[in-house]
Amino acid sequence: MKRVLVTGGAGFLGSHLCAALLARGCDVLCVDNFFSGRRENIVHLLENPHFEFMRHDVTFPLYVEVDEIYNLACPASPIYYQKDPVQTTKTSVMGAINMLGLAKRTKSKILQASTSEIYGDPTCHPQEESYWGNVNPIGSRSCYDEGKRCAETLFFDYRRQHGMPIKVARIFNTYGPRMRPDDGRVISNFIVQGLRGKPMTLYGDGKQTRSFCYVDDLIEGLIAFMESPDDMTGPLNLGTPEECSMNDLARKIMHLTGSATEPTYNPLPQDDPHQRKPDIRKATGNLGWTPKTSLEEGLKRTVGFFQQDNVWKTSV
Ligand code: NAD
Ligand code: UDP
Repeated sequence: MKRVLVTGGAGFLGSHLCAALLARGCDVLCVDNFFSGRRENIVHLLENPHFEFMRHDVTFPLYVEVDEIYNLACPASPIYYQKDPVQTTKTSVMGAINMLGLAKRTKSKILQASTSEIYGDPTCHPQEESYWGNVNPIGSRSCYDEGKRCAETLFFDYRRQHGMPIKVARIFNTYGPRMRPDDGRVISNFIVQGLRGKPMTLYGDGKQTRSFCYVDDLIEGLIAFMESPDDMTGPLNLGTPEECSMNDLARKIMHLTGSATEPTYNPLPQDDPHQRKPDIRKATGNLGWTPKTSLEEGLKRTVGFFQQDNVWKTSV
């Protein structure tokens, strides 16, 4: 049985990844310090004899025996990663060093959850993997963006220096069940606001775009990438090339939540990217992967999750 370590396994993406790996017959070790993750995300997995949880901060070395590592540990929403920016950079950089060290000792394959944020506010559209990005090194998003960029550097240097099997996935905005109601990301914010009958808080003029990928599609892509031949290191974009403005997103979610309250317009946060859309030709060509869930369908399922057990009523 393959022993797989998932760091950040109690988070939004990590909890879905742990479940998908268990369903494929893996032994899963989930490591998390609950900085932005939650016990509720993995409680349904705890009775599975092939699932193990360990509370641990990846900025400290970890000594376990595994065959594969998915390194997801890092807060992903601007509210959470800006709460303690020094810890965010430490998690990305020291976390990567510790997990790469572990992979080197155990001769494991290791996948890094990188991000479209490494492209910053892109001057090239859609973003191909060959684009180097346009990132402010000293702004309020830099702890995340530059931390993730440095982690990518470490992954490729470990490969060059030690010949290790690495994979770097650049994940674009992903959404779905188990996002926190207080997460601060746009889809969870709008759904909670819509269900509460409160105005949706649009930042800026709402014309900025993102491309949203449903979580099940993204997890499928991550696993397919991990299982691809060792010479496929990436970086590899994973996301949905269906672009949507925040104004359009608010309208769609107003419709799905039955909200008639008009949105409010608020100041745009510093360095907020104007547009973002992945070029996924590499993922489609090399993995045969393509996201299947439309934004309408994914949003419907996500609204269903927030309605279930009145998740939207909890402020957490
Ligand atoms: P999340 O905040 O829900 O999950 C991150 C998890 O990492 C949390 O459970 C948190 O407690 C844990 N964590 C944070 N610091 C840690 C530390 N020092 N030691 C151990 N655990 C720690 O976010 P998510 O959306 O699930 O994102 C998971 C990963 O995917 C992140 O690395 C993120 O950068 C990347 N990513 C996500 C998206 C997205 O849209 N969801 C997009 C791009 C990249
Ligand atoms: N956004 C918004 N209202 C909100 C939260 C976010 O208009 O309540 C905007 C935000 O300014 C950004 C987009 O939605 O332009 C996506 O934000 P999110 O934090 O979800 O992702 P990221 O900016 O990291 O891609």
